[in-house]
Amino acid sequence: MPQDTGWRAELFRETSDQSIVEVGMATEYFGANDALKAKMEIVLQTWPLYRVFQYTGAEQVATLPKYLTLFCGKCAKDTFWEASFYTGETNKSGFTSKRYECRNCGNSFCTYYFYWKKEQQISEFFKVGQYPELEERVSQTLEQALKPEDLKMYKNAFLGTSILE
Ligand SMILES: [Zn+2]
Repeated sequence: MPQDTGWRAELFRETSDQSIVEVGMATEYFGANDALKAKMEIVLQTWPLYRVFQYTGAEQVATLPKYLTLFCGKCAKDTFWEASFYTGETNKSGFTSKRYECRNCGNSFCTYYFYWKKEQQISEFFKVGQYPELEERVSQTLEQALKPEDLKMYKNAFLGTSILE
């Protein structure tokens, strides 16, 4: 009998793990606007192009985060980047773009091109482009630590484009 119970427990655990994976891939719910904004910062800063972020809740949020933390080549460190918005602006109406400026030097810019819209009950957001490209913002510390061939490999892996090379 104990053996049988153990087997059942194992089976249950496998089933549970699978459901966790499914939940992980499903639509995220946001009860607070700040939580969604924090998540969108991460998506903008680190997610690859075309990876779709789906969510529900936080319906009032219709503009990108005002601030991002990105690596500035001119400042040679991570800095705050700021976007400006006009009153009543919405970025949640299909394809559009938004430009961020390094607050530290005021002389570096990064533009995101993205899709953001609510279809049925679910809001979808994904990047379709960004300029300059993500790879230019590998931190200088890391760049100095890696040999040129390693750096290229790192950048490719980071961008998920190793197959294309
Ligand atoms: Zn800067």
